[in-house]
Amino acid sequence: MSNMEPSCDTSKKGLVFNIQRFSVNDGPGVRTIAFLNGCPLRCKWCCNPESQELKPVVMFKAQNCVGCGNCEVVCPTGASNLNFPGKIDHTKCIACGKCIDVCYHRALEMSGKWMTVEELMGELYKDRVIYRKSGGGITVSGGEAMVQHEFLLELLKACKAFGWTTAIETTGMASPEVIEKIIPWLDVVMMDIKHIDPEVHKEYTGVNNEAILKNALLISSLAKKMIIRVPVIPGFNASPNVIAAIAKFTTYLHNVNELHLLPYHDLGSNKYGMLGKEYELAGVKKPENEFMEELKAIVEKEGLTCKIGG
Ligand code: SF4
Ligand code: SF4
Repeated sequence: MSNMEPSCDTSKKGLVFNIQRFSVNDGPGVRTIAFLNGCPLRCKWCCNPESQELKPVVMFKAQNCVGCGNCEVVCPTGASNLNFPGKIDHTKCIACGKCIDVCYHRALEMSGKWMTVEELMGELYKDRVIYRKSGGGITVSGGEAMVQHEFLLELLKACKAFGWTTAIETTGMASPEVIEKIIPWLDVVMMDIKHIDPEVHKEYTGVNNEAILKNALLISSLAKKMIIRVPVIPGFNASPNVIAAIAKFTTYLHNVNELHLLPYHDLGSNKYGMLGKEYELAGVKKPENEFMEELKAIVEKEGLTCKIGG
């Protein structure tokens, strides 16, 4: 820790798309989760598709729209178009918010807000008593929070200046330089390993897993505590063989003895329509409890502590 500057630049700006309070599933104690925009992956089951780009996005609630056309009139770029699938052409939208101001039926909303570290800390500070009493703190999530590594670093330094515990939920997809800079500021790293096979990984997430698996080793050598998390997705990795392979890989990491299995859910599926996107996993069912217990037993066979859920 001797190489860390004691001060932090609280004027640094980052794009934040959600702040979730009173979470008990994302690290020790009661935590506030700051969700940061930007992600190099495109997982088909992503429950935060509005976070993937590093820019604010307008979301359209078709059920509220009365077709008045106000939004089209004020849009300076032609992005707001009632004939366009999903209503907003995101390739043209500059997120000026003019359409939202004139939509009196609340059919449009902006996701993603540029905030300084100071502004975000002001929000996080509201729950400081709960962090202290519960042994909780701040969890950063995404997207992939390390995409905005300069902002993230200053945020983590600010949290540490208050003595709060810090955790991250990460895809593990970042350069080794960024990982070496960020991980020492975290008390807990919760990293996804989604599949061992590079081709299947690429088909469902848009990227090869080679860098992620390498980074898992690097992160495990730097982290104070690391937990591997596996989203269990039917048709992708929900099989005893795949989970056994991920559990085996986990045993090769430095000082990692915990793996969490996160059963698939479709809670974010409605957001795809709001972004004019297709939800490719429509109709996929949540894995049965009995099956999850079977997978848990496979993980435990490798000598790992296994939990189903967060
Ligand atoms: S945010 Fe601005 S650019 Fe984007 S659709 Fe609305 S009015 Fe058009
Ligand atoms: S202003 Fe709102 S209600 Fe009117 S057409 Fe646009 S999205 Fe629909």
